[in-house]
Amino acid sequence: MSEHPRETLKRLEQQARKRFGQNFLVNPHAVKRIVRLSKAGPGQKVLEIGPGLGALTRELLATGCDLRAVELDRDLAAHLREELPEVTLVQGDAMKVTLDEMAPGDGWSVCANLPYNVSTRILRRLIVEPRFERLVLMFQKEVADRLSARPQTKAYGSLSVVIQAYAHPRVAIKLGPKDFHPKPKIDSAVVLFERRPVPLLNGCELAHFEKVVRGGFSHRRKTLVNALAGLWSKDVARQALESTVGLGRRAEELDVTSWGKLAAALPPAGSPGVREKMVR
Ligand code: SAM
Repeated sequence: MSEHPRETLKRLEQQARKRFGQNFLVNPHAVKRIVRLSKAGPGQKVLEIGPGLGALTRELLATGCDLRAVELDRDLAAHLREELPEVTLVQGDAMKVTLDEMAPGDGWSVCANLPYNVSTRILRRLIVEPRFERLVLMFQKEVADRLSARPQTKAYGSLSVVIQAYAHPRVAIKLGPKDFHPKPKIDSAVVLFERRPVPLLNGCELAHFEKVVRGGFSHRRKTLVNALAGLWSKDVARQALESTVGLGRRAEELDVTSWGKLAAALPPAGSPGVREKMVR
């Protein structure tokens, strides 16, 4: 890492922008570990989201990978274009830039220190796309714990199930406030996601699977038959549970495969027995 972000920002007459979740990595050892985890190497296609001042970007480029990056902040994008012209940089919102502009074709890895405010929304967008095979992403530690949580734990919830249906998440690196500038108030963690060859949706549409899982977790203390009764009639919910995972179960007890079985047994929206109430 060449210069401390404080100095670069001073030179650019800019401050770290909170609304863009700007906490720049200042720990060179952590930067190396993150890039090593991404397995970036010569010719490998790598997407970085939010390159910022280029801490990860420089280390990724040094591996000889074919790097593209998407940065929302216009000033930082302009700065990076000047400093690192070898990166294909798209200035825009990672939630809106088309996938083909962001990462054309197949066989991509993603390596990013994500802005905390939109990290799970960006993950949700990437994880459903098979073109992203390996993802190494930084989150707030509490979110990383939810993503990798196992059944029967407090952190296990709808986010864990939906993401684990697509990939195996593993917390690989833990970081503290002093590893960033400015220092965030929270701890952080880098999660490695290795994509499953086929998502564990048991043939269901993602929207239906998510509706079942979110519905189930919307009242985690209730048994599933009661939690789901707002969305399906009690008879339909009871039948689906009896024929798959059993009555009397609670959301946090089901592993991802069981959620797939239950979702496949529940009729999708528009069928008889489905209430048209939406779950947030
Ligand atoms: N990668 C740099 C590092 O590790 O030092 C910066 C990481 S900082 C946590 C997040 C970066 O994402 C910032 O550069 C910010 O401007 C950018 N960003 C924020 N929201 C974004 C979005 N929706 N799309 C693309 N980039 C975004």
